[in-house]
Amino acid sequence: MNRPYDPEWQPKTRTIRVGHQPTNEHEHGEPIFTTSSFVFDSAEQAAARFSGAEPGNIYARFTNPTTRVFEERLAALEGGESCVATGSGMAAILSTFMALCAAGDEVVVARQVFGTTSVLFNKYLAKFGLKVRWVDLTDWAQWEAAITDETRWVFVESPSNPLTEVVDIARLSDLAHRHGAGLIVDNCFCTPILQQPLALGADIVIHSATKFLDGQGRAIGGAVVGNKAQVGEEVRGFLRTCGPTMSPFNAWIFAKGLETLDLRMQAHCAHAQAVAEFLVNHPKVTKVYFPGLSTHPQAEIIAKQQSGPGAIVSFELEGGKPAAWSLINATQMLSITANLGDAKTTITHPASTTHGRLTPEQRAEAGISEGLVRLAIGLEDPIDIIRDLRRGLDG
Ligand SMILES: *Cc1c(COP(=O)(O)O)cnc(C)c1O
Repeated sequence: MNRPYDPEWQPKTRTIRVGHQPTNEHEHGEPIFTTSSFVFDSAEQAAARFSGAEPGNIYARFTNPTTRVFEERLAALEGGESCVATGSGMAAILSTFMALCAAGDEVVVARQVFGTTSVLFNKYLAKFGLKVRWVDLTDWAQWEAAITDETRWVFVESPSNPLTEVVDIARLSDLAHRHGAGLIVDNCFCTPILQQPLALGADIVIHSATKFLDGQGRAIGGAVVGNKAQVGEEVRGFLRTCGPTMSPFNAWIFAKGLETLDLRMQAHCAHAQAVAEFLVNHPKVTKVYFPGLSTHPQAEIIAKQQSGPGAIVSFELEGGKPAAWSLINATQMLSITANLGDAKTTITHPASTTHGRLTPEQRAEAGISEGLVRLAIGLEDPIDIIRDLRRGLDG
């Protein structure tokens, strides 16, 4: 009989072997349990399941065997006790704060988070009395001033989008813990293959499974990973009551996606490195933002906490927006879309898309210039990615 988990397994093995316990049919592949509810042997067993006295399946809003394969596999990769899968990355962030915060609580959030995450804090969580203080991810003095004994949670993404700025996760978790606060890291860009925030001291990891965990742009999903009390009980309790649940079909896609995550991340990193080095040497490119370059202003922190650079490469062109748009329009293979973490390379102009709703002053403050272009490097041969970029750059 297959074992569902062996703590000695290396990460690569965990991506493939954790979670699936074959049923009486002795299937080799992970089955999709498309059932909304589960039956009990007796009234006694039903009562024991509902009260929590006996573990096991009850109802697919909060228990499903396929979803559990994905959850156990991701928990094993992040090194967390518990994982709760959610209907989207945004649902993972919402569920975490709804479960772990109350009106009047104070949280400190890096300004450089995903745009929709900022809206979630400013428009919706604020409506229920959560107080948010915004801090520049790379400015240590701002972190020290903002995190006080009033702080409940600190929330960051590292590296950031699109400029790949990072924060020292171990140092930030120390600072948060000294004030009795917890650290939450959105690990979407690195995945557990390149960075394990819990091992660095963070308390909770958030994922948009939509991105690299799937890796082929097929489904929307999210996850929260952490300890049993906060995630296994509080966040799962929120899911059980409020219902932002992942479908078993999507859980199956993500569980199968994890099986190739290590291979894919190594390829994403190598291809991104090749493209970044091409861009650094191109006369029309004035600046390249990529964690794999020795010239990255925070190269020391990156070397300490990431085992690879990731797939996001941003660069600035002389000639501002007309130059950026003409480069984007000259491509024939790259996909013009703001999505990332796909096998297909994507290209976008942040100033007029992901950051288009900011004022010019806010954009300047965030370092998003009119000539900035962002690439999320996929799995095509980098020779062809570079050839496509040359159409606009060399013309
Ligand atoms: C996409 C993304 C999210 C939101 O995830 P969805 O699955 O689209 O809801 C959150 N954080 C980061 C860093 C993202 O890139």
